[in-house]
Amino acid sequence: MDILYRSTRDQAQQTMTASQAVLQGLSPDGGLFVPTQLPELNLELSELLHLSYPKLAYKILQPFFNDYTKEELEACLAKAYGKNFTTPEITPVEFKRDLAYLELFHGPTIAFKDLALQLLPHLLQTAAAKNQTALQTMILTATSGDTGKAAMEGFADVKDTQIIVFYPKDGVSEIQERQMRTQKGKNTHVVGITGNFDDAQTKVKEIFDDQAFAQEIRQENYQLSSANSINIGRLFPQVVYYFYAYGQLLKAKQIKVGDKVNFSVPTGNFGDILAGWYAKKLGLPINKLLCASNENNVLTEFFRTGTYDRNRDFYVTTSPSMDILVSSNLERLLFYTLGEDSKATAKLMEQLKTTGKYQLSPALMEQLAQTFYADFATQEQTATEIAQLFDDAKYPLDPHTAVGSFVAHKYQAETNDQTPMVVVSTASPYKFPEAVLHALGEKNVAPGLAAVTQLHELIKQPYPPTISALFDAPLLHDQTCAPADMKALVAQIIREN
Ligand SMILES: *Cc1c(COP(=O)(O)O)cnc(C)c1O
Repeated sequence: MDILYRSTRDQAQQTMTASQAVLQGLSPDGGLFVPTQLPELNLELSELLHLSYPKLAYKILQPFFNDYTKEELEACLAKAYGKNFTTPEITPVEFKRDLAYLELFHGPTIAFKDLALQLLPHLLQTAAAKNQTALQTMILTATSGDTGKAAMEGFADVKDTQIIVFYPKDGVSEIQERQMRTQKGKNTHVVGITGNFDDAQTKVKEIFDDQAFAQEIRQENYQLSSANSINIGRLFPQVVYYFYAYGQLLKAKQIKVGDKVNFSVPTGNFGDILAGWYAKKLGLPINKLLCASNENNVLTEFFRTGTYDRNRDFYVTTSPSMDILVSSNLERLLFYTLGEDSKATAKLMEQLKTTGKYQLSPALMEQLAQTFYADFATQEQTATEIAQLFDDAKYPLDPHTAVGSFVAHKYQAETNDQTPMVVVSTASPYKFPEAVLHALGEKNVAPGLAAVTQLHELIKQPYPPTISALFDAPLLHDQTCAPADMKALVAQIIREN
């Protein structure tokens, strides 16, 4: 039984292969690609005790990327999950106090997006070869800080590919900006936008929808592609670490084969937690998935009331990678909840576009509540959580992980659910040193790179390589442009390469 891919919004249910879906990223009807069915994995839970990360990844991903040969997929995985991570476990679990923390920040950019973006470029390159695309690929990415750097680390010097990252010139942290502007690789281009993230994101979407522009760059032998989190080449690789975490809990004798576990997931675009939902569907014994938000708590409200409403104030918080009001990947969960009904899914998405909101029936919400629990942490609660873990266990959390940790503790206190709980830890504290220092009670917090040194003195943990590199790496990129000029700049970079 071979899996193909279809759009969440396509009533005709046209299908394509995995490699074609990887190349396209997003369906032309605006929908997201989903598999025509879910596979039965060739995997026993007891095997999780000894499978290495790449071997486990192969077992889980092979049925999803089934038009890749064994050799092709294994080669992609070997390149993605090797020495580019600073620990052979790739995603180790740390047991601190009453919780387990699944650390997803040992890759090149010290945030969890590396787990997918170290693999996607290889999947994309192989897909281009399989589908005999003679075209060069231009990856366009709008970023609020983390995705841009992780995408460039993955795509740097990848053959037949250029990548442009647009970031809000005054809207990212100094560490994030430095990480991007010091990026090596002849094919990487970093551009600061005189506007905010939404301006950058809106323009990038416009460029993707511009058919005349697509024709124009085709003359130059180029096609556009995207590295954002709706691509199946980013989504399914994230399923792997849920299984891997279960194996680590088995190894540590925290659970026995078959026991249930909970995961608390700091959530923005709903990609990470949706991967957890797929893991449950594929047979991992998950009891509850906790959807943890910051003050931009549109998802908390949705899971509690059934109404998704983006018409609300937008807050800039200490967990900026979760400052988001439209969680794209939720569309896939809606599609399944609506019984894989494309017409109903498209209707809700149309309502979201025109009115900014939609509503689900109480019966459907009850169904979701069997798996999902949702809550949020204010910035003050986030800071308190960071301080408590450090005081009690000398374990420094980044603000995103702290949101997940806070919601996990709150859930346990509210429900008395004794199921072992794993907090998905999405970034290293070194990525957000100012926020962590404030949380730990430092009165005079140095700005930018100096804060890194200050944090180092306090938490006494070794610098990840990407952080030490920042101190002496030259700034290689200094381009800026107005949102209105982005398209012209893309055309110019294409002509020059
Ligand atoms: C992107 C990101 C998140 C949110 O993940 P989603 O898949 O968008 O829900 C959480 N924490 C960090 C550090 C991130 O970079």
